[in-house]
Amino acid sequence: MTIKKVQQILPPAPAHMVGDGFKVHNFFPSGYNISNRRMSPFFMLDYNALMELSPSETPRGVGVHPHRGFETVTIAYQGKIAHGDSFGNKGIIAEGEVQWMTAASGILHKEYHEEAFSKKGGLFQMVQLWVNLPAKDKMSEPKYQALTRAIIQRSTHHSPLVRVEVIAGNYQDTPGAASTFSPIELYNIQLSSGGKVDLHFPAEYNTGLLVIEGSVLINQTDKAAQDHFALFENVGTDISLEASADARVLVLSGAPIHEPIASYGPFLMNSQEEIRQAVIDFNSGKFGYLED
Ligand code: MN
Repeated sequence: MTIKKVQQILPPAPAHMVGDGFKVHNFFPSGYNISNRRMSPFFMLDYNALMELSPSETPRGVGVHPHRGFETVTIAYQGKIAHGDSFGNKGIIAEGEVQWMTAASGILHKEYHEEAFSKKGGLFQMVQLWVNLPAKDKMSEPKYQALTRAIIQRSTHHSPLVRVEVIAGNYQDTPGAASTFSPIELYNIQLSSGGKVDLHFPAEYNTGLLVIEGSVLINQTDKAAQDHFALFENVGTDISLEASADARVLVLSGAPIHEPIASYGPFLMNSQEEIRQAVIDFNSGKFGYLED
């Protein structure tokens, strides 16, 4: 048992807009000068930090666009997001809920603030992760998992000061809600003042933590503040977290996919040839149809 040390704590990079509805800080792959394989199988992390959304009669967001070769995982912390895709899936991601969309061979989707929430305005905070797929699964059938509050299990931790919501993987025999194509651990952890939790991940797993609310002390040495991302070394297995005030963190850890990466906009493949094919297939309507 050895400690998995913090390699770096990254403050949020300057925000940019995705469509007209999401003001995001990118932590990887573009926000910092780190390799696009560093957090594999996680390829991208966009974070809309807590903000007050002004009311709008017309919901803001991102119109119809394609994806191929990976999964989008959208986590709502405050406010509501509405989505729809070309396979007829649609729904609302409410606070504490997760949408796990497997674009795989190709899908069109749109992502907006939910209508009633948009009209009223209010607090908004969300995360979107892009999870890469192994080459053998990139052209599989698209799939959609609506991980509602009822589906996401909470670990009955030994301490009442800690609540672990297991989105994917397994935490102390509590199974994750999502089915995944490669080994992934994804948890939302809430710590009340004085709460402590120990986490264990294989040394080679790429591991990080985003502080959603409050701050946490990692391995009794590194303090990570709200909106900061802690990147862990690929050495050691054990992480301890403690909070001196209420805190909430998103923990992500996964087995790296050791395959080439070719990325272009909304496509994430293994070769340039596959990227060219994705563009051709999208332009010829093979991703289906979705009304804006
Ligand atoms: Mn999208």
